[in-house]
Amino acid sequence: MKRRKFIEKTSISGLGLFSISTLVSCNTTNEDKKEVKSGAITTNVIKPIVIATWNTPTAVNTAAEVLKKGGSALDAVEEGCKIEEANSKNQTVGIGGLPDRDGAVTLDACIMDEKGNYGAVLCVKNIKHVISLARKVMEETPHVILVGEGAEQFAVSQGFERENLLTEASKKAWEEWKVKSEYKPIINIENHDTIGMLAIDKKGNISGACTTSGLAYKMKGRVGDSPVIGGGLFIDNEVGGAAATGLGEEVLKTVGSFLVVELMRQGKSPQEACEEAIARIVNRPNSNYKNFQVAYIAVNKKGETGAYAIHEWFSYNLHKEGENKNIKSDFYLKN
Ligand code: ASP
Repeated sequence: MKRRKFIEKTSISGLGLFSISTLVSCNTTNEDKKEVKSGAITTNVIKPIVIATWNTPTAVNTAAEVLKKGGSALDAVEEGCKIEEANSKNQTVGIGGLPDRDGAVTLDACIMDEKGNYGAVLCVKNIKHVISLARKVMEETPHVILVGEGAEQFAVSQGFERENLLTEASKKAWEEWKVKSEYKPIINIENHDTIGMLAIDKKGNISGACTTSGLAYKMKGRVGDSPVIGGGLFIDNEVGGAAATGLGEEVLKTVGSFLVVELMRQGKSPQEACEEAIARIVNRPNSNYKNFQVAYIAVNKKGETGAYAIHEWFSYNLHKEGENKNIKSDFYLKN
């Protein structure tokens, strides 16, 4: 069976007797009801949607503004992520990110568009807007990943400014950690805040972005899931998108975001897909899941969203139907 036919079949059978148009029309205006054929699933035009990990109202509003003006989902997720990259008070992304165990701030980011294009930068120093740099890799080079010095050199060649990313507050936190921690990275359940963002624009196209300073006090050179395709982010414009936050090593071992999207392709709702992807981590032999956090967010082509975490304390921001809300995620350890 051809891929497109397969998706049509699974999505329609999942809807039982109702057509997609029937379901969507409950919440839509006449303007929204224009039919578009976008990807494999024929949907009505839905209002733009942005979903992002953690409590990121300004970033999500910024992305939603781009969409409202008719901008692309790709522009929206880039602009949204840039807000947190520039926020020196956020110690997990961009400027102000907590350093590695040697005191160097290194950033990771990736971006994917509706055509399945991907760009990423890993372990980059001195450049704040790594999400824009990842986009440059995607659009201006024949490659998909640049790391370290090469990525920094490329950034400068593209007009990015070098700047010191280690703020006084993050330096102080690192110095305090060195005294207490016997020089090991902290693998705990609170120390996460990566921004993973997914958006659907007025044309129904989906894009996503993910940006982070990674695990605080990580080993020099360590990279987690966030910039890795299928790990911290995956988009398939025919199906949906997913993003992850939490302990990247665990997300990578289960190819988490790719898994969420593939589960949606098989007919699972975004919520069911996130729950199953968390279950894969929890159910691994000897999984130490009580001692680390992982969380997923997802959106499908119909604009349905889902989120699930191992532990409590994960929330996400959702901009839908013109409203931007921070929502507490459901989580595995509730049971
Ligand atoms: N996923 C990120 C990483 O492992 C960390 C985070 O979400 O805070 O690098």
